[in-house]
Amino acid sequence: MIRQKIVAGNWKMNGSKESVSSLVNGLLEMENSGSEVVIAPSFPYLSQVDGLISGSRIVLAAQNASQEVKGAFTGEVSASMLSDFGVKYVLVGHSERRSLYGESDELVAAKVKTIFEFGLTPMLCIGETLAERESGKTLEVCERQIQAVIDLVGVSAFEQLVVAYEPVWAIGTGLSASAEQAQEVHQSIRAFLAKLSESVAEKVQILYGGSVKASTSSALFQMPDVDGALVGGASLDAKEFIAIVKTAG
Ligand code: PEP
Repeated sequence: MIRQKIVAGNWKMNGSKESVSSLVNGLLEMENSGSEVVIAPSFPYLSQVDGLISGSRIVLAAQNASQEVKGAFTGEVSASMLSDFGVKYVLVGHSERRSLYGESDELVAAKVKTIFEFGLTPMLCIGETLAERESGKTLEVCERQIQAVIDLVGVSAFEQLVVAYEPVWAIGTGLSASAEQAQEVHQSIRAFLAKLSESVAEKVQILYGGSVKASTSSALFQMPDVDGALVGGASLDAKEFIAIVKTAG
């Protein structure tokens, strides 16, 4: 089965009105390609970016959303608000949210459920720490993180969401997993889902994330189970991000 590739840029907590505008203008020079191009600015810039990308092939994502629908949750942003700004995807369970803000597997699953309720597509981030990899627990961790979501919304939900495998040791460290290491985990994630539903496993897009650059992306994208990339640091540079998109074909 041919799965469309997705190249998504996670801008994290970076940018200003001015830099956001010049970054998007740089990205608008991108030539058409077969992959879906997604960018995730910080909340305050969603409206600005939504306006700038209108009529282009770039798709908007948010970096987080509340598990709650609305009400007395000071400082939180709801999925329904995000849907007001042309957002299609919402990152959920990014390792920085899990490790710095204590987001548990159950909370991440609750967020996935709410994001679906408002017609948005979760981009579910999973991945092991270096200690977990070194003790041979990579798959156990990924499967536990996925299972929590299955327990709440069922395996069929994975037909409508995107998984981003992001080994924590590779995020922002310059240490990328090799294409073969990524393929091994992606294939195992698909096999794990296939035990519950083969058709879901075939369809689910699994992105790799962790220090992806144009110099590493083409080898990653050649792997049969790597359906794209979630890019942090390199997505803040329009030329580099465009070069990554090009390698996705
Ligand atoms: C990320 O934040 O999702 C990420 C993969 O970051 P980086 O590309 O900078 O490692």
